[in-house]
Amino acid sequence: MIVEPNGTIGILGGGQLGRMLATAAAELGLKTHILCPDEEAPAYDAASAHTVAGYLDEHALAAFAKAVDVVTYEFENVPVEAVEFLTNCGVAVRPGAKALENAQDRLVEKEFANSIGADTAAFHAVDNLASLKAGLDRIGGPAILKTRRLGYDGKGQTRITAEDRDLSASYDKAIEFAWKEVGAAPSILEGFVPFACEISIIGARGADADFKMYDPAENVHKGGILKTSSVPANVSRATVDKARKVTRDMLEALDYVGVIGVEFFVLENGDVIVNEYAPRVHNSGHWTQDGCVVSQFEQHIRAVAGWPLGDPARHSNAVMENLIGDEANQWRLLASEPQCAVHLYGKREARPGRKMGHATRITPKS
Ligand code: AMP
Repeated sequence: MIVEPNGTIGILGGGQLGRMLATAAAELGLKTHILCPDEEAPAYDAASAHTVAGYLDEHALAAFAKAVDVVTYEFENVPVEAVEFLTNCGVAVRPGAKALENAQDRLVEKEFANSIGADTAAFHAVDNLASLKAGLDRIGGPAILKTRRLGYDGKGQTRITAEDRDLSASYDKAIEFAWKEVGAAPSILEGFVPFACEISIIGARGADADFKMYDPAENVHKGGILKTSSVPANVSRATVDKARKVTRDMLEALDYVGVIGVEFFVLENGDVIVNEYAPRVHNSGHWTQDGCVVSQFEQHIRAVAGWPLGDPARHSNAVMENLIGDEANQWRLLASEPQCAVHLYGKREARPGRKMGHATRITPKS
């Protein structure tokens, strides 16, 4: 199925990713229709139409399905039921429900990664204090407890350090504290990976099963939130090839159509460990807007519209910096900086930890 110019892409979710997808679609002569529960959302400014409705509002979903030619999502916590309902209405949803379902649960996601032969941190399912203790005994060392669902930007996770484990007097207290920290919700305990750096691959698979992948970005997090993504990443060719192979295997196993973001830990020996994947365009791929002829946003729109994928080659080095909270107040300074592209999301309130925009600094390709 191909969406021709003037056709309409439906997007579930109205955040900044939807906004940038809508902008990229407009550049290709395509229209976008956003469905999002929020009265105000960054994507509405850039889209041709929007519907304010809950993701499980069947009446709204049925009307949405009629108004669009294909549906995609920009938010991985869209209920899988919404995707299934739309599919049953006869509209294609790309990527499909399986990619969404696997990514929504950290335990299922890790099992999926292992099933395609990719390495992950050691992990243990945690449903209560007893399974948390059993997990710590099995995994050992420092570990991270994360909720299985709905965690993002470091939310819903807490670390259990080696000191917590050594001081037997406070061990039980530390465990109880960690369990409270995740809201006593079904969780996963992960062994702490002593990584040399973090990278991500933005990959794409077309409706014709073609693959394209961008150069990996090296990512630095602050307080659990992505701060910068830089290309080229300071990793070996062999590491890039390993990460690309995993990304490709994932796309294939999910019969995926669209852009995916796969995050990896890179070990000192150059091996890669999958952290997680996002079944959508990804923050660490924003540099492609200014560093490539075809950005990740255009690539995703091309894929879901059934168009040929674009060339992911990089024409520059780039450092993308997220503008978090009131950092976006520096827009004037950034706008006057040479070789710096400023992208703001039109959010009214600069709450702490909120992604308000990003700035990408370009230098000649090395
Ligand atoms: P996540 O929400 O799982 O992407 O975690 C956010 C960040 O926390 C990651 O990008 C890492 O910097 C760090 N982190 C998460 N899990 C681990 C782990 N198992 N080992 C080491 N660092 C981790």
